Order: sequence, then structure tokens, then C-alpha cells
Amino acid sequence: MTEGRRPLPDDISPRTRAVHAGSRRSQYGEVSEAIFLTQGFVYDSAEAAEARFIEAGADEFIYARYGNPTVAMFEDRIAALEGTEDAFATASGMAAVNGALTSLLKAGDHVVSSRALFGSCLYILEDVLTRYGVAVTFVDGTDLDQWRAAIRPGTRAVFFEALSNPTLEVIDIRAVADMAHAVGALVIADNVFVTPVLQRSGVLGADVIVYSATKHIDGQGRCLGGVICGTRQFIRKTVEPYLKHTGGALSPFNAWVMLKSLETMDLRVRAQADSAFRVAEALSGLAGLRRVIYPFRPDHPQHDLARAQMQAGGTVVSFEVEGGREGAFRLLNALRIVLISNNLGDAKSIVTHPATTTHQRLTEERRAALGISDGLLRLSIGLEDAGDLIADLTQAVAAMQSGGAPR
Ligand SMILES: *Cc1c(COP(=O)(O)O)cnc(C)c1O
Repeated sequence: MTEGRRPLPDDISPRTRAVHAGSRRSQYGEVSEAIFLTQGFVYDSAEAAEARFIEAGADEFIYARYGNPTVAMFEDRIAALEGTEDAFATASGMAAVNGALTSLLKAGDHVVSSRALFGSCLYILEDVLTRYGVAVTFVDGTDLDQWRAAIRPGTRAVFFEALSNPTLEVIDIRAVADMAHAVGALVIADNVFVTPVLQRSGVLGADVIVYSATKHIDGQGRCLGGVICGTRQFIRKTVEPYLKHTGGALSPFNAWVMLKSLETMDLRVRAQADSAFRVAEALSGLAGLRRVIYPFRPDHPQHDLARAQMQAGGTVVSFEVEGGREGAFRLLNALRIVLISNNLGDAKSIVTHPATTTHQRLTEERRAALGISDGLLRLSIGLEDAGDLIADLTQAVAAMQSGGAPR
């Protein structure tokens, strides 16, 4: 690693940090970060090996399951961008959610979680944690009275998706964090839908912020990854010991993809959010749709809160068609640009029918309680021309209404 380069100024914006922060240059002085595709590291002597196992310095590595220079660059860059002291990268978003919760909690602890969660997050809270003696209370995340009633002395953590999947409910982070902090509970936010660009959940009061890097951070549908952002104490004393021994490490190659993707994320996410707003506006005028859900539209139930917390309304638009599942399927099958898939945050626009895919596992009653009707569609807006997307969606809605597209 080269020495001597002066550090980045402290007062630069997140967008500049996303391009420069965390870079570690080798003796070659490369501009674009290197991939250190190595599992292990060589020691100059037996004594040096022993010393490193006693305590590894900031730029000293032992084994890639514990840490790797390319992974460290990604961790430092996302922490700088998010404004947290440190970060730990994981093999997927779910490894991050699981790592943040499982490393912290033990039998007898109590957690309060919002109910509107991604299916796998729900599985961890409902099926895994409870199996090990953690009590979990679920609340309607939009109802502060329910949070107030559920958070009690002894509550160890609260968990929520800052913007929920797929119905785009907004959590009042400051209000929930104040209640949690009053009893000493840690606030863990799954920030995937708000992205690291559009909301500073840490400034609003979240202590730990987790991402599926698979989504907007990669942003081009290639690699799985995740990251937990928090204080140095939480990351190094709670998360790292658990994750380095349980095997959720991010591959250095995937870390490199994510690291380079952070450089363009600000541009991508803002462009996607601009298009999402335009698509939401266009959809809301179409016959055949029951409702359009988008946080920055005035008819969103938490429009004011969304505007106060977020810099833009996000990259996902959800909407409900008339005609339930049959109508939804007809619309999907008529699309020509928007892809039918289940990822989000991709450069390619993607539409998902949650009731039959991501939330299929839930009973009909549970889906109904979460607002996931058979006519609900989740649309992740990509980097295509917004006019082309609107034209594609408009013709697909028309095809849906006229009885379906020719297959
Ligand atoms: C996708 C997603 C995850 C899980 O991420 P993976 O990288 O697929 O493991 C967690 N939370 C939310 C809100 C997500 O959308």
C-alpha cells in the first residue's frame, strides 16, 4: 500500500465519498481499485503470524472469511457514504439481516418489529429467532401507538424496513428511535428500498443500517452481497466475531463489483427515482388500475413523512389492477420492455407479482393484512427512457383491459 497521499477532506458530500472513500492503493498506484482475489495472506515470520493472530492492525489481514483488502475497501466506502463509523460486508442481504440480529440477540431478549417485511426477513424474525428463545412482537409499522405499546423496558432491539416491500409504507424513524432509545434498545433499519442515496436513516436515529447490496448498490443485476453499517463497537465487537466464525463473508470479487458500483450509484438511483415518479404519475391516470402507491405522490397515506425523510420517492412503484390475479397476469404477459422477475434496483425495469412469488409462502389472510392483494404489482424502475417505460406500461394496461395480449 502506498503512503503519503493526503486524506480526503472531512466536509465532502456523500456523492464524492462514493467515488473515493476507502481506496487502498498497491505499490503500483492503480487508479481503479484492485481485486485482491486471495483467501490467505503471507507473514514475514512465525512471530509476525503469531502477532497478527493476537491483534490484527487496520490494514492487516488473516483470512478472507475474516476480511480482505477489496472487501475492506467496499466496507470503508459504504460506511463513509452512510456516515457510520464502520461496516461489515456479507455474502447477501439476508446474511446481513441475520448477522445484525443474531450476533446481538440471545435467549430471553425481546424484539419489536414492523410486520410489513420482505419474506425472508419475516422468516428470520418469526421462525429463527423465536426458535432460540427470543420473543418478537410484531406491530403495524405505520402506527406509532402500536410501537409505543410494544416497546418495553428490556426490549433489546427494534427492526423495520424503512420503506416496506411491496406496499411502500414509511416508518417514522425518529419517533420509533426515540421510543427505542428511551429503553436502551438498538434500532436496526433495513434500508434497501430507500437506498443509501435517498435517505440518511442514521441521522434520523437508526443505530444499525443493513443493505442488500444485491439491489441498488450493484444496480446491474450481477452479484449477491450485503452490508451492516454501525458504530465501530457494534461492528467489530458484536457483528465481526459472529460473522467471521459463521461464514457469511462477501467474496472479494463481489466486493469489487459493489465497490465500483458505488461510484455510479448516486447517478443511477436519482435517475431511477425521477423516472419512477413520472411512471407513477402516468399510471395514476390510467383506467383499469385501482390505486398507485408511490411515497412522493400526495395520495400516499404518509406523503408528508416521506417528503420529510427522503430526498426522492424511491425507485419502486406499486399498483393494484382491477381483475385480481387474472388482470395482473394479463398485464405482465403484455409487457415488452419491463421484465417479469423478482429483483429490484436493477438498471432493467422489473415487475413482480408478490402474491404468487415473493409472498406466496404467506396465507391469504396474512397477505391481506399486509395489503398484498391478488391484483398488486411491484414495479422496480430501471435506467431506460421513462417515456418508453410509460408507453410499455400503458399498452400493457390497455391489453389487460381488452382481454389480454396475444402470447
Ligand atoms: C432483497 C432484500 C433483502 C435480501 O437481500 P439478498 O441480497 O437477496 O439476500 C433483504 N431486505 C429487503 C428489503 C430486500 O428487498
